[in-house]
Amino acid sequence: MRIGSVKFFKRLILTVVALMILIPVSTSIGLGVEVHQRGQEIGRLSGELATVSNELLETQLSNEKILATNQKIAQGLRQDSPPYQSLYPDMCVEAPVLYRDMPKTVYLSFDDGPSSVTEKNLDILKEKQVPATFFVTGANSEANPDILCRIVAEGHTLGIHTYSHKYDDIYASVEAYLEDFYKIWNYVYETTGEKPTVFRFAGGSINAYNRGIYQDIVAEMLRRGFTYYDWNVSSGDASKNITALQILHNVTDYIERHDSAVVLMHDREDNALTSSVLAEMIDSISASGYRFSRLRNDIRPVTFAYGY
Ligand SMILES: [Zn+2]
Repeated sequence: MRIGSVKFFKRLILTVVALMILIPVSTSIGLGVEVHQRGQEIGRLSGELATVSNELLETQLSNEKILATNQKIAQGLRQDSPPYQSLYPDMCVEAPVLYRDMPKTVYLSFDDGPSSVTEKNLDILKEKQVPATFFVTGANSEANPDILCRIVAEGHTLGIHTYSHKYDDIYASVEAYLEDFYKIWNYVYETTGEKPTVFRFAGGSINAYNRGIYQDIVAEMLRRGFTYYDWNVSSGDASKNITALQILHNVTDYIERHDSAVVLMHDREDNALTSSVLAEMIDSISASGYRFSRLRNDIRPVTFAYGY
């Protein structure tokens, strides 16, 4: 093929035309691929952006939730408050601001009275000038209102034990516990004119009957301002076949293990043995350098440990 011939020009024109088509097409394909890649990247980035902004939103929402909950608690407006909090609204006393610790002090306490045995104990306490604490029950209180008044008049603490002393009933629910407590608490208040502020659980604060609900009962009673006391020295005077000497030594041999000793005794009608050693017990404790006091709701509680 000769340069300048017709065939040459045809080829030349065809080549130029082909180039004019191929160059833009290939350029477009290249650009198209790049646009696609950029598009994918934009998609990925906007996905990430959406995740981040979702996380931010969630964080903001949970912060708002925490803030709102805190505000509710701070204002005492817990909407899920148990309904029993509104039962017996008059059954409240002034809660202590601080608990006091009294060094080398013994708190004698008597459960399940009052009875004629209580009167004997009161005589001994009066003679020895020793204050004590009495945790009373329903039937015995209703049968002996005068003794309740004597306990208060002679400067002792009158505390609540239980109205019925029937574990199955009082520990059936928090409501059942409050109902039982209110009956005896209100009776004591109406009889003596004083609102009891301390109490002792029937069977102790943690027992086989209240395991599922004792924390709720404790929380509710503390909310109402009451203080409860278990014991760290037990006279064992509720045991059958115990002797007077054993009751005495169950107390006097163990007092010195505690700086603050809360002694458990009973003053039911059948607890005459306890009365028979009370004077000697007091003398022995005094000789060990301890003083006596009565429980009040600002005395640091002696209680069984949670998780027992
Ligand atoms: Zn009891």
